Amino acid sequence: MSQIDQTKPVLVTGANGFVASWLVKKLLEEGITVHAAVRNPSDTKKIAHLNQLAKESKGNLVLFKADLLVPGSYKEAMLGCELVYHTASPFTLDVKDAQKELIDPALNGTANVLNTAKEQASVKRVVLTSSCAAIYTDAIDSSRVPGGILNEDHWNTTASLSYQPYSYSKTVAELKAWEIAKSQNQWDLITINPSLVFGPMLNPEYTSSESLNILKMLGGGLLKMGAPRLGIGMVDVRDVADAHFNAGFIPEAKGRYLTSAHSTDVLEIGKILLPKYGAHFPLPKRALPKWLLLLVGPLANKLYSRKYIKNNVNIEWKADNSKIKKELNIHFRPMKETMEDSFDSLIQAGVLKAN
Ligand code: NAP
Repeated sequence: MSQIDQTKPVLVTGANGFVASWLVKKLLEEGITVHAAVRNPSDTKKIAHLNQLAKESKGNLVLFKADLLVPGSYKEAMLGCELVYHTASPFTLDVKDAQKELIDPALNGTANVLNTAKEQASVKRVVLTSSCAAIYTDAIDSSRVPGGILNEDHWNTTASLSYQPYSYSKTVAELKAWEIAKSQNQWDLITINPSLVFGPMLNPEYTSSESLNILKMLGGGLLKMGAPRLGIGMVDVRDVADAHFNAGFIPEAKGRYLTSAHSTDVLEIGKILLPKYGAHFPLPKRALPKWLLLLVGPLANKLYSRKYIKNNVNIEWKADNSKIKKELNIHFRPMKETMEDSFDSLIQAGVLKAN
């Protein structure tokens, strides 16, 4: 159990990212000093929105240069911090070299940040942005656990370097985090494990998050002939930020938190946008049949292998979010609000354009 002093600075790694930007906003609004670690503090395209948030809030923003792959590079940013949020990790599905592009930054980066936390006497709590990807690989995995519903006790055992390497990267990184946490008793570790995160983007033009690609696919017409009923969980980025905030400051917070608002599928999240945007955007209206996906999916994109389609399409994904609601007091937003706000932010930024 850790009581965090709100007058002390708080470190956020990967502070410019889609998820982290909302956490930084929340911390600044609460009047907290944020040590924002980014790869390049002079890259105004990536950090201008953070400076703007700081101008509009009570809190202070201090930028630090750090890279997951450079040992010790988070040391300066961590000085004097009781609370460390480690969010930085690449979220991309289309990679050429999964070891280099995903596993090394996720795993070695987590070890880098958490080993630095072991050396900093001020640190009392580390909150790691893990993922539901560290809990499962395919929607079918939820039907394979006792009771058919995923929860915090479950771990991803089926992802690998060659199959769903992003999920593998999040699994090995979280396992490493727990190993390091258990090797010391100065700070406690909490993990936030979100499902697919949607919601408005604070810097939509320059996020590298895969969430943006999914929204672009939905609004840009790639799925206009139909979308797969691919079972997923989804959650609003603002609720994910609140979950991080509460995980940092509620002394009794403990362990992993499965952070997912709704069990849904890709067609359903597209269809929920139809009433408001259907007239001007080529949104999917019908389901693509599984047999067709099995036939053309692997040819269209190497990510859609037959195994992936077999284990995910027309399969319901189920997860239990009761722990986070009860212990971190999170009230999830309705899916319609999240999806409409996502879309509006991309339209306003000119990322999505109406016909
Ligand atoms: P994002 O916008 O792409 O943010 C990723 C962040 O990681 C960026 O700040 C990025 O910096 C940083 N990063 C990547 N490689 C780095 C390196 N070598 N050194 C330092 N920083 C590096 O994606 P996001 O969706 O917000 O993801 C943030 C976290 O949430 C990740 O841990 C992700 O796994 C987790 N998550 C996301 C979702 C989702 O649906 N979005 C769901 C579950 C969990 P640059 O901008 O410089 O590249």
